[in-house]
Amino acid sequence: MTSVLPTMDCYEAMRAKCNYWQKCNYWRKFISYLIEIIAPVDAPLEKIFEKVRKRAPWIQRQLQFFSQFQPRTPRRSFVAGETHLYLGRQYKLKVVSHLQQEVKLYRGKLVVQSHRPKDSAITKELVEEWYLARAHTKFRERLIQCQQRFPKPENYEPTGIVVRQLQQRWGSMTAGGKLVLNRSLIIDYVIMHELCHLRYDNHGPAFYKLLDRVMPD
Ligand SMILES: [Zn+2]
Repeated sequence: MTSVLPTMDCYEAMRAKCNYWQKCNYWRKFISYLIEIIAPVDAPLEKIFEKVRKRAPWIQRQLQFFSQFQPRTPRRSFVAGETHLYLGRQYKLKVVSHLQQEVKLYRGKLVVQSHRPKDSAITKELVEEWYLARAHTKFRERLIQCQQRFPKPENYEPTGIVVRQLQQRWGSMTAGGKLVLNRSLIIDYVIMHELCHLRYDNHGPAFYKLLDRVMPD
Protein backbone atom coordinates (compact mmCIF):
# COMPACT_ATOMS: atom_id res chain seq x y z
CA MET A 1 0.00 0.00 0.00
CA THR A 2 1.50 3.30 -0.98
CA SER A 3 1.55 6.06 1.55
CA VAL A 4 -0.63 8.95 0.56
CA LEU A 5 -0.02 11.11 3.57
CA PRO A 6 0.65 14.62 2.37
CA THR A 7 4.39 15.05 2.16
CA MET A 8 6.14 18.38 1.82
CA ASP A 9 6.24 17.81 -1.95
CA CYS A 10 2.55 17.32 -1.93
CA TYR A 11 2.10 20.55 0.00
CA GLU A 12 4.20 22.36 -2.54
CA ALA A 13 1.98 21.01 -5.29
CA MET A 14 -1.08 22.05 -3.33
CA ARG A 15 0.33 25.49 -2.77
CA ALA A 16 0.82 25.98 -6.49
CA LYS A 17 -2.66 24.76 -7.23
CA CYS A 18 -4.21 26.77 -4.41
CA ASN A 19 -2.69 29.95 -5.75
CA TYR A 20 -4.19 29.19 -9.09
CA TRP A 21 -7.60 28.13 -7.89
CA GLN A 22 -7.98 30.91 -5.39
CA LYS A 23 -8.87 33.09 -8.32
CA CYS A 24 -12.23 31.35 -8.43
CA ASN A 25 -14.97 32.14 -6.00
CA TYR A 26 -14.79 28.68 -4.52
CA TRP A 27 -11.85 26.70 -5.68
CA ARG A 28 -11.77 22.96 -5.77
CA LYS A 29 -9.25 20.78 -7.35
CA PHE A 30 -8.08 17.22 -7.14
CA ILE A 31 -4.60 16.91 -5.70
CA SER A 32 -3.43 13.92 -7.66
CA TYR A 33 -6.61 11.86 -7.80
CA LEU A 34 -6.65 11.22 -4.08
CA ILE A 35 -7.27 14.34 -2.08
CA GLU A 36 -9.73 17.08 -2.77
CA ILE A 37 -9.67 20.26 -0.75
CA ILE A 38 -12.48 22.74 -0.71
CA ALA A 39 -12.06 26.06 1.03
CA PRO A 40 -13.56 29.52 0.88
CA VAL A 41 -11.60 31.91 -1.26
CA ASP A 42 -10.48 34.06 1.68
CA ALA A 43 -9.08 31.17 3.75
CA PRO A 44 -5.32 31.67 4.31
CA LEU A 45 -3.22 28.89 2.80
CA GLU A 46 -1.40 28.16 6.04
CA LYS A 47 -4.72 27.55 7.75
CA ILE A 48 -5.79 25.19 4.97
CA PHE A 49 -2.54 23.21 5.19
CA GLU A 50 -2.82 23.06 8.94
CA LYS A 51 -6.32 21.60 8.61
CA VAL A 52 -5.14 19.03 6.08
CA ARG A 53 -2.26 18.05 8.38
CA LYS A 54 -4.66 17.66 11.27
CA ARG A 55 -6.96 15.54 9.14
CA ALA A 56 -4.14 13.45 7.69
CA PRO A 57 -4.81 10.35 9.83
CA TRP A 58 -8.49 10.44 8.85
CA ILE A 59 -7.61 10.90 5.17
CA GLN A 60 -5.16 8.03 5.46
CA ARG A 61 -7.84 5.80 6.98
CA GLN A 62 -10.31 6.63 4.22
CA LEU A 63 -7.78 5.99 1.50
CA GLN A 64 -6.71 2.71 3.05
CA PHE A 65 -10.31 1.59 3.31
CA PHE A 66 -11.03 2.32 -0.31
CA SER A 67 -7.70 1.17 -1.67
CA GLN A 68 -8.94 -2.36 -1.07
CA PHE A 69 -11.21 -1.95 -4.07
CA GLN A 70 -8.26 -1.30 -6.32
CA PRO A 71 -6.86 -4.68 -7.13
CA ARG A 72 -5.14 -3.64 -10.33
CA THR A 73 -1.63 -3.00 -9.07
CA PRO A 74 0.52 -4.49 -10.44
CA ARG A 75 -1.13 -5.39 -13.71
CA ARG A 76 -2.86 -8.74 -13.51
CA SER A 77 -3.05 -11.29 -16.26
CA PHE A 78 -5.89 -13.27 -14.66
CA VAL A 79 -4.29 -16.65 -14.78
CA ALA A 80 -4.42 -19.27 -12.06
CA GLY A 81 -1.83 -18.96 -9.31
CA GLU A 82 -1.65 -15.17 -9.47
CA THR A 83 -2.42 -13.30 -6.25
CA HIS A 84 -5.19 -10.73 -6.00
CA LEU A 85 -5.86 -8.27 -3.25
CA TYR A 86 -9.18 -8.02 -1.48
CA LEU A 87 -9.83 -6.13 1.77
CA GLY A 88 -6.11 -5.79 2.26
CA ARG A 89 -5.48 -9.52 2.02
CA GLN A 90 -3.93 -11.55 -0.74
CA TYR A 91 -5.83 -14.35 -2.38
CA LYS A 92 -4.46 -16.83 -4.85
CA LEU A 93 -6.52 -17.05 -8.00
CA LYS A 94 -7.95 -20.43 -8.78
CA VAL A 95 -9.86 -20.99 -12.01
CA VAL A 96 -12.03 -24.04 -12.36
CA SER A 97 -14.30 -25.34 -15.08
CA HIS A 98 -17.91 -25.10 -14.02
CA LEU A 99 -21.38 -24.88 -15.54
CA GLN A 100 -22.28 -21.99 -13.32
CA GLN A 101 -20.02 -18.97 -13.77
CA GLU A 102 -19.31 -17.48 -10.39
CA VAL A 103 -16.58 -15.92 -8.27
CA LYS A 104 -16.15 -16.56 -4.57
CA LEU A 105 -13.65 -16.49 -1.78
CA TYR A 106 -13.10 -20.00 -0.59
CA ARG A 107 -10.45 -21.25 1.84
CA GLY A 108 -8.15 -18.33 1.27
CA LYS A 109 -8.49 -18.51 -2.49
CA LEU A 110 -10.28 -16.35 -5.02
CA VAL A 111 -12.10 -19.06 -6.91
CA VAL A 112 -13.41 -18.35 -10.38
CA GLN A 113 -15.85 -20.83 -11.86
CA SER A 114 -15.80 -20.40 -15.58
CA HIS A 115 -17.20 -22.04 -18.71
CA ARG A 116 -13.78 -21.52 -20.24
CA PRO A 117 -11.16 -21.56 -17.49
CA LYS A 118 -8.31 -21.20 -19.98
CA ASP A 119 -9.70 -17.91 -21.30
CA SER A 120 -8.11 -15.18 -19.17
CA ALA A 121 -10.32 -12.49 -20.75
CA ILE A 122 -13.40 -14.21 -19.37
CA THR A 123 -11.70 -14.69 -16.00
CA LYS A 124 -10.86 -10.99 -15.93
CA GLU A 125 -14.44 -10.04 -16.75
CA LEU A 126 -15.82 -12.30 -14.01
CA VAL A 127 -13.34 -11.04 -11.39
CA GLU A 128 -13.97 -7.39 -12.23
CA GLU A 129 -17.73 -7.89 -12.06
CA TRP A 130 -17.25 -9.48 -8.67
CA TYR A 131 -15.15 -6.57 -7.39
CA LEU A 132 -17.74 -4.11 -8.66
CA ALA A 133 -20.57 -5.96 -6.92
CA ARG A 134 -18.55 -6.00 -3.69
CA ALA A 135 -17.83 -2.30 -4.06
CA HIS A 136 -21.57 -1.67 -4.48
CA THR A 137 -22.22 -3.38 -1.16
CA LYS A 138 -19.55 -1.32 0.61
CA PHE A 139 -20.81 1.92 -0.94
CA ARG A 140 -24.33 1.17 0.22
CA GLU A 141 -23.01 0.69 3.75
CA ARG A 142 -21.21 4.03 3.57
CA LEU A 143 -24.26 5.73 2.11
CA ILE A 144 -26.45 4.57 4.99
CA GLN A 145 -23.85 5.88 7.46
CA CYS A 146 -23.70 9.20 5.64
CA GLN A 147 -27.46 9.61 5.43
CA GLN A 148 -27.74 9.18 9.18
CA ARG A 149 -25.76 12.37 9.65
CA PHE A 150 -28.55 14.40 8.06
CA PRO A 151 -31.20 15.39 10.59
CA LYS A 152 -34.85 14.87 9.65
CA PRO A 153 -36.42 16.14 7.44
CA GLU A 154 -33.17 16.73 5.56
CA ASN A 155 -32.22 13.08 5.26
CA TYR A 156 -32.70 13.10 1.52
CA GLU A 157 -32.80 9.85 -0.34
CA PRO A 158 -31.12 9.41 -3.73
CA THR A 159 -33.28 7.65 -6.29
CA GLY A 160 -30.47 5.23 -7.04
CA ILE A 161 -26.73 4.58 -6.96
CA VAL A 162 -24.58 4.16 -10.01
CA VAL A 163 -21.01 2.97 -9.56
CA ARG A 164 -18.87 3.74 -12.53
CA GLN A 165 -15.29 4.09 -13.59
CA LEU A 166 -15.03 7.86 -13.76
CA GLN A 167 -11.91 9.49 -15.15
CA GLN A 168 -12.29 13.04 -13.90
CA ARG A 169 -14.72 13.07 -11.05
CA TRP A 170 -15.27 11.39 -7.75
CA GLY A 171 -18.98 11.58 -7.97
CA SER A 172 -22.00 13.51 -9.09
CA MET A 173 -25.70 13.80 -8.56
CA THR A 174 -27.95 13.60 -11.60
CA ALA A 175 -30.94 15.90 -12.04
CA GLY A 176 -33.11 12.87 -11.28
CA GLY A 177 -31.43 12.39 -7.91
CA LYS A 178 -29.21 9.46 -8.83
CA LEU A 179 -25.94 9.30 -6.94
CA VAL A 180 -23.07 8.54 -9.31
CA LEU A 181 -19.91 7.34 -7.59
CA ASN A 182 -16.46 6.59 -8.85
CA ARG A 183 -15.73 2.94 -8.51
CA SER A 184 -12.02 3.51 -7.91
CA LEU A 185 -12.20 5.65 -4.86
CA ILE A 186 -15.02 6.90 -2.74
CA ILE A 187 -14.81 8.63 0.59
CA ASP A 188 -17.62 9.73 2.86
CA TYR A 189 -16.90 13.32 2.04
CA VAL A 190 -17.85 12.74 -1.60
CA ILE A 191 -21.07 11.00 -0.62
CA MET A 192 -21.94 13.78 1.82
CA HIS A 193 -21.16 16.40 -0.79
CA GLU A 194 -23.41 14.73 -3.35
CA LEU A 195 -26.21 14.18 -0.84
CA CYS A 196 -26.22 17.93 -0.17
CA HIS A 197 -26.88 18.39 -3.88
CA LEU A 198 -30.25 16.74 -3.36
CA ARG A 199 -31.16 19.95 -1.55
CA TYR A 200 -29.04 22.48 -3.47
CA ASP A 201 -28.02 21.93 -7.06
CA ASN A 202 -25.24 24.52 -6.91
CA HIS A 203 -22.18 25.30 -4.79
CA GLY A 204 -23.57 28.45 -3.19
CA PRO A 205 -23.17 29.47 0.46
CA ALA A 206 -26.34 27.59 1.48
CA PHE A 207 -24.91 24.40 0.02
CA TYR A 208 -21.67 24.71 2.01
CA LYS A 209 -23.58 25.71 5.13
CA LEU A 210 -25.53 22.46 4.95
CA LEU A 211 -22.36 20.48 4.23
CA ASP A 212 -20.62 22.08 7.20
CA ARG A 213 -23.57 21.28 9.41
CA VAL A 214 -23.74 17.58 8.52
CA MET A 215 -19.96 17.18 8.28
CA PRO A 216 -18.55 19.52 10.90
CA ASP A 217 -14.95 18.28 11.14
ZN1 LIG B 1 -20.83 19.49 -6.12
